[in-house]
Amino acid sequence: MKKVFFLAGLLAIMMSCNEDDTFEENKVEEEALNSTHTELAFPNRLGPLKKGFFEGMEITYEIIDGEYVLGGDVILPKELVYDSEDDFFKSQINRKTNMKSVGLTTNRWPENTVYYKIDEDLPESSRVTEAIDHWKEKTNLVFKEKQTSTKNYIYFTKGSGCSSALGMRGGMQTIKLGSSCTTGNVIHEIGHAVGLLHEQSKVDRDDDIAIWKNNIKEGYEHNFETYDERGYEGEDYTEGVDFGSIMMYSSYAFSKNGRPTIVKKKDGKYYSFKTQRNGLSEKDIEGINKMYPGEQSNTVTYVTGQYYTINGLKVKYWAGKWLYWSKTRGWVYLVLKDGKWYYA
Ligand SMILES: [Zn+2]
Repeated sequence: MKKVFFLAGLLAIMMSCNEDDTFEENKVEEEALNSTHTELAFPNRLGPLKKGFFEGMEITYEIIDGEYVLGGDVILPKELVYDSEDDFFKSQINRKTNMKSVGLTTNRWPENTVYYKIDEDLPESSRVTEAIDHWKEKTNLVFKEKQTSTKNYIYFTKGSGCSSALGMRGGMQTIKLGSSCTTGNVIHEIGHAVGLLHEQSKVDRDDDIAIWKNNIKEGYEHNFETYDERGYEGEDYTEGVDFGSIMMYSSYAFSKNGRPTIVKKKDGKYYSFKTQRNGLSEKDIEGINKMYPGEQSNTVTYVTGQYYTINGLKVKYWAGKWLYWSKTRGWVYLVLKDGKWYYA
């Protein structure tokens, strides 16, 4: 089975299609102008675009208020964004070795446990407690309030939109919530914090959906890239786009004209589709429980053929060795010494 470390929620086409609207070419939908199923860190603002290198992927991100924003609502840690993969390798030479090689736990929450704290001044904090209760009820993940000694935790606080970091970053990381963010949006942002990416960015999504670029607001096109297009050699947990995923963008996400930007492909026809922000889908739950299998152990067992993110690099384990896909060099062997990556 294929898998991508972050992209987990994903999975099979599900559900019957009786909620679909057959798309009419010139139909303009009000919904598009007010696309509630596209979380944004900075609503109605557009930052300059920049290309960079993050965890083995070539990415395009926006810079807004000094934050590096990926895919609308994901905030990247600046110190891990490099201008190129060469810069990444150069950074290894001078980097302090205080980062340990911890395999999966570099971005996953160890022992399936997510620690958090809620800002006392956050309005309607029940949005957060309800979202956390949902995650606790539906998945293997355990959520605990931060203790004085807790180093790695999510801080839920106010923001202009809805945003999160991707995976566990180490130290305090924020989920920012504006007044328009609902409990469902908080469930989505927690999805990013535990390692999920947007459903429509899956590598094999083109089998199930089409992106209609002509309808996308200028400057937002990069939000529709797949990880393939970013130069990332990855695999997905399961095949197919899950239209019911809480990580799926709406059919009208970033539309400039009220027409769909993402359409479902079926039997040679295109359909708009409905998305939801009520809760995790069955496939979201299946994916997340694969990422967090509920074993109370820190022991990392590497499996041949699987990808891991270790010290900021996406690498593939193969029979005791590490392989890395370089855009310029192809597959190369790497070795990890004292917490730094070197060409073997
Ligand atoms: Zn998102």
